Amino acid sequence: MSDPFVVVGADAAGLSAASKFRREAPDRDVVVFEMGQWISYAYCGMPYFIEGRVERMSNLLSLSPSEVADRGIDLRRGHKVVGVDPDAKTVAVETTEGDSFEQAYDDLLVATGGRASTGPFDVHGVDGAFTLHNMDTAAAIDAYVAEPDAYDPDRADVSAVDRERVDRNAAMEAPETAAIVGGGYVGVEMAEALVGRELDVHLFHRSGHILSDFGEAVGERVETELDAKGVTVHTSAPVEELVGDGRIEGIAFGGADGAETLPVDMAIVGVGIRPNTELLDGTGVELGAGGAVRTDEYGRTNLPDVYAAGDCATAVHAVTGEEAWMPLGLTANRAGRAIGATVAGDPSPVGEIAGTAVVKGFDMEAGRVGLVGDEAAREAGFDPVRETVTAGSRSGYYPGAAPTDVTLVADRDTGRLIGGSIAGPDRAAIRINTLATALEADMTVPEVERLDLAYAPPFSPVWDPILVAAKVLNGTLDGD
Ligand SMILES: Cc1cc2nc3c(=O)[nH]c(=O)nc-3n(C[C@H](O)[C@H](O)[C@H](O)COP(=O)(O)OP(=O)(O)OC[C@H]3O[C@@H](n4cnc5c(N)ncnc54)[C@H](O)[C@@H]3O)c2cc1C
Repeated sequence: MSDPFVVVGADAAGLSAASKFRREAPDRDVVVFEMGQWISYAYCGMPYFIEGRVERMSNLLSLSPSEVADRGIDLRRGHKVVGVDPDAKTVAVETTEGDSFEQAYDDLLVATGGRASTGPFDVHGVDGAFTLHNMDTAAAIDAYVAEPDAYDPDRADVSAVDRERVDRNAAMEAPETAAIVGGGYVGVEMAEALVGRELDVHLFHRSGHILSDFGEAVGERVETELDAKGVTVHTSAPVEELVGDGRIEGIAFGGADGAETLPVDMAIVGVGIRPNTELLDGTGVELGAGGAVRTDEYGRTNLPDVYAAGDCATAVHAVTGEEAWMPLGLTANRAGRAIGATVAGDPSPVGEIAGTAVVKGFDMEAGRVGLVGDEAAREAGFDPVRETVTAGSRSGYYPGAAPTDVTLVADRDTGRLIGGSIAGPDRAAIRINTLATALEADMTVPEVERLDLAYAPPFSPVWDPILVAAKVLNGTLDGD
């Protein structure tokens, strides 16, 4: 009898793979090791839970352990994989009960995700200072921002929750002023969430505009919206230190006026993530972009029968054709599912990535795709040329029409579209999918301009904002 398909990590990539594998190969075994107690959760929903828009933590869960078992998946929670022996084809496992054993595999998927990187800041052991990269922290933040007598313990209604940590945070005096360190998409979402919980919120960003990956035009519009909704946005303001001993007391930051310290009683550090690859140390596995596990178009690593997917793995960039690392939800689910099919005997490519991302800050929506910044475009060998237009989201006479900014970036020599971004308050973000599709199809800007996009007054003007932008950029390309 063959050894099982072993999966490490029971969230987006891992469980997608295990589920697909079981459906395609019902006679073969699949074992999923998960070091924690949480499985099949939606990190993406955590800011909305903290805000209160999502009522219960259980709302953020997809599959329960019993549903996973019903699928014929052997799920072992509290099992950490600490090593891999690619010659013997075994993994070393340690349980939370202190047991350890080795498990043989036929095929292995590493779907271990990433962890919050904290840069130079240490949030451990500092009450009121958090990163947001796990469900227990989301529960703890929710408890911390509530007044002790107003906290509703039913909000954290999942048995996996670290109840002791929640109770400890719930007992602390509620904060009044929060600092968010890092103006990426999680920082923006958390700014909105904490304003929703009636905190005075300060958002710190190292460079000149928040949402750096979305480009300047988007950053400016989202900053204006955050400002209008009461968030103090500090740009070009690198945070130097979290001040406080035991409990957070302040944020020391630099800026135009020199070093300053802002008193705060809460801080959320959102400065990025790092891939979890330690279990492969010493195996000879190749790492690539961002320190993630290098994978090919089928999610294979350089180790025989070892795959990697999701936040811990690289993928191929749809525009550059080069290796890239962009930890996002669909990438993980899609790659996991494809690897499940491949291991079951139906070779399926994991798909390319374009860094397609959307975010909203209050009433301002934004999207980005491909190569938005000039530097990234030049590094990839393109000669970028860009235009930003502002166009209506619907026919001007139809209620709800709002200015929508579209930036398109093309390669000067070939006219190929290589990236774009969108911002606006009226269903702007989802329009990025048109650009994502155009990038995947390697379209030129003239081809984008000729797209037969839908028109009716409630949805779009005759000339969709993307078509307007393509027209303007074509003019620029023609004039060059
Ligand atoms: C606050 C927040 C908001 C986000 N919002 C969005 C969004 O709006 N859109 C979007 O596309 N993406 C978003 N993301 C990113 C998205 O959540 C991730 O891309 C996705 O969860 C990655 O899935 P994964 O399966 O690769 O890894 P994970 O979800 O991190 O799961 C990995 C699992 O592996 C387990 N594990 C790790 N090491 C071991 C080990 N050695 N042994 C056993 N188990 C192990 C971990 O405990 C974990 O359960 C957000 C992330 C955060 C933190």
